[in-house]
Amino acid sequence: MARLHEHQGKTILAAAGIRVPRGGLASTAEEARQQAAALGGVAVVKAQVWVTSRAAQKLIHFVKTADEAGDAARMLIGQQVGHFPIESVLVEEQIAIEREFYVGLIVDDRLRRPVVIVSSVGGSGIEEIALAHPDQVAQFAPDVRTGLRDFEARDLLRRVGVRGKLLLSFSEMLVKFYAAARNYDARSAEINPLVLTADGQLMALDCRFTIDDYAVFRHPELGIEIAREMDRPPTALERIAWQVEKDDYRGTFYFLQLETTFEAADRVVGFHGNGGGGSMMNMDTLLAQGFRIANFVDTSGNPPASKVYRAARIILAQPRVDAYFMGGSGVASQEQFHSARGLVKAFMDAQLNVPAVIRIGGNGEEQAIDILQRANGSFPAPLEAYGRDATPEFCVNRLVEMVEAYTPAVVTPREMPPAAEPYTFETVTHGTITFDYAVCRDCETKACIESCAPQILSLEGDVPVLNITREQAKRGACIECLACEVECHFRGKGGGVIQLPIPGLDA
Ligand code: SF4
Ligand code: SF4
Repeated sequence: MARLHEHQGKTILAAAGIRVPRGGLASTAEEARQQAAALGGVAVVKAQVWVTSRAAQKLIHFVKTADEAGDAARMLIGQQVGHFPIESVLVEEQIAIEREFYVGLIVDDRLRRPVVIVSSVGGSGIEEIALAHPDQVAQFAPDVRTGLRDFEARDLLRRVGVRGKLLLSFSEMLVKFYAAARNYDARSAEINPLVLTADGQLMALDCRFTIDDYAVFRHPELGIEIAREMDRPPTALERIAWQVEKDDYRGTFYFLQLETTFEAADRVVGFHGNGGGGSMMNMDTLLAQGFRIANFVDTSGNPPASKVYRAARIILAQPRVDAYFMGGSGVASQEQFHSARGLVKAFMDAQLNVPAVIRIGGNGEEQAIDILQRANGSFPAPLEAYGRDATPEFCVNRLVEMVEAYTPAVVTPREMPPAAEPYTFETVTHGTITFDYAVCRDCETKACIESCAPQILSLEGDVPVLNITREQAKRGACIECLACEVECHFRGKGGGVIQLPIPGLDA
């Protein structure tokens, strides 16, 4: 889920007609000083950072003059909070508060509906409040076809004791809040606190929105760079990985760098998960064995081999990786031989120089293991592949032994000589497949032909040709399974080569 900053959420609320404090964003101390001056000097300066408990962490300052606002901003901007540098502050008027409420919305996967939650006693620790004051917290799941209707909002608020004139203004505000969350495809949204001011107005003092990853493209105005929930700006490799995911809708590729600085004595593993919960179990086992995990990657949902290839290349491009481990669900339904071919090509192209253990259970497991085992000798480091019957503990122990026994070689990435007689076509992710007819003519196995579907590739005389048009191949009829190149490498004469660009990686 992509998270919005407080100031972005307030822009959404204000546009929906919900009152927010006067003020504005500042990215320098001078801008903050000017914002506060426009408010008469008395203001609150709030760091725009994705952490909770900002007040307790002294990331919110109440100031009495414009100069104090400038000083507070100078102290906050540039400060590192966890992984996250503070880049801006929100300077707002101070509000005299009469009473605090909470309103929230969350998409409930079980109900398959959004659920609206209200509390008449504020919302810090809403779960605990709900337990301690069940009569003051209530929720309602509106029908998504109608949205939250006036009478439903009023009924919900009556359940937490809101009455009289406030009931009317509050229910009106709640309907607007629901509509704003719906319009922005929020997975969750909350106003906390929603306050009743001393002059009787409802006002959103703080808010939080997360947007559904799959709907981010509908909201370019939000400027979300990567449609993932992150607590810091993305790294260069995360940006590259996101581009891969964004440009290829087939399957899922998730990449997150967990650590980038290590001690010489650390044993650092590049982690490649292939199926959610199982991945966590494998990571726990790596940690228990003393590995430090450089990254989390998940390729699942039946990704093509080309996507797994790019994932593996990105894992190996991290500044420090001493070992490679793939592990996930032992009974994944995706066709694991695609993942195996993606890994083999990545390891060949990068000339794998760290031991790798691949635990690849599920559909097509035996074929996947066979492909991986045959790849040994195609790169300097050893690779072992196991299926569902091998426990994560066993696989991780093997990796430890392999790392201890391996001395990294001096390697250069694989470079294929230019084809003397190229026959070339493009693939759906801007890849290029080239058969060098000068080599193919003398190849006895024609392994590329039997590894591909006959309607796509066939023999014409002694050489492979497309059975479809180049345009069809480029539109996705060639599924980038990489089988023609991998099998050519294993059994042919090396005449088939696939180039799969990863924009930004080489730079
Ligand atoms: S297996 Fe390789 S060398 Fe043989 S025909 Fe196919 S692409 Fe050419
Ligand atoms: S040509 Fe055939 S074997 Fe080669 S990548 Fe495309 S679909 Fe796979």
